[in-house]
Amino acid sequence: MSSHRGFAAEHLRPFGTTIFTEISRLATEHGAINLAQGFPDFDGPEHVKAAAIEAIRAGHGQYARMAGLPELVRTIAASFTAATGVAADPDTEVTVTAGCTEAIAAALLGLLNPGDEVILFEPYYDSYRACVAMAHATPRFVTLRGPDFRIDRQALERAVTPRTRAILVNTPHNPTGRVFTRDELSVVADLCIRHGLIALSDEVYEHLVYGAPLVRLASLPGMAERTVTLSSLGKSFSLTGWKIGWAVAPSVLSAGVRSAHQFLTFAVSTPMQHAAVAALKSPPGYFDGLRADYRRKRDLLADGLRSLGFSFRDPEGSYFIYADHSAVSRRLGLSGDVALSRHLIERVGVAAIPPTAFYEDKAEGSRHLRWAFCKQDSTIRAALDRLHAALG
Ligand code: GLN
Repeated sequence: MSSHRGFAAEHLRPFGTTIFTEISRLATEHGAINLAQGFPDFDGPEHVKAAAIEAIRAGHGQYARMAGLPELVRTIAASFTAATGVAADPDTEVTVTAGCTEAIAAALLGLLNPGDEVILFEPYYDSYRACVAMAHATPRFVTLRGPDFRIDRQALERAVTPRTRAILVNTPHNPTGRVFTRDELSVVADLCIRHGLIALSDEVYEHLVYGAPLVRLASLPGMAERTVTLSSLGKSFSLTGWKIGWAVAPSVLSAGVRSAHQFLTFAVSTPMQHAAVAALKSPPGYFDGLRADYRRKRDLLADGLRSLGFSFRDPEGSYFIYADHSAVSRRLGLSGDVALSRHLIERVGVAAIPPTAFYEDKAEGSRHLRWAFCKQDSTIRAALDRLHAALG
């Protein structure tokens, strides 16, 4: 994959162009169906769109409060408390950001000092690694290994050093689809408490869970006081382009997040924050419907991919299937995720993400492809038709 380095600062040069942009560009160029980048090809709910239009008409056209519209931070605090049992002061403990990606950046830039170490689980969402670099901190990696992708206590313990400052967890997990169990998260919690670490928990797929309920890191004993919980509107309301996210953390940690946020974006789009209030106040039936739709899409894509020879456990959450492609690649005489991804885009007309960009341990990554099922059923069927015609 090419990268456009130009005059990028040295610490950002290794990251080139994101794999999502790269693959979506290739997909467009070759007319491939995009099951790669994680964005829905369907629209968000009408009542949320109507609230945004109404907010613009009502003239909410100036900067919002730096840390977030009062009504929105109150709504986020209430839903955080309902989900975790942890109280959150809307004034001092909730910060609204430009999508979760900014929340991640603001948390890392606002809480880390140069030389601090941050533990990342790999495969990781690519912005974690780049934001750690922007903070001049040092990443340490713990590999989640297939086919179970479980958090391994020994591996995590080995990654902690006297310089460790934070552990970043993502559950439901992109790209593996894991929803970490209470036992696995307790391992993280024990280490955070024992070594006085900050926990960052990216929960953007919080409503896309297909089995046991999501365990929130902040809800575990001793964790509320040291956890920054990050989430957004995008995945829960099929509105990834709205870029409304947030960080919920105790006031001492929120102060760090805000110290960066005020200079990254200062404040987030005011009318969209009004609409976000309407979104988060959606009736429970909305979330049940979303989950049911996604479960159907998951099963549709999973059945199709299995019948083609991809191997994987059904994702417990998120909108991704993380599949071992070894049998398919062997049949095609190809080796590695990048070669298969290119073949599928150029010859078959279907795009998936080659995940080595999410790893230091490239061998572990190269066996897998990530497939997104946040697409209309007809899109998923059309992609499977092409795959069956070419590989079936
Ligand atoms: N979170 C989405 C994904 O993992 C989109 C990422 C992006 O395009 N930056 O596909």
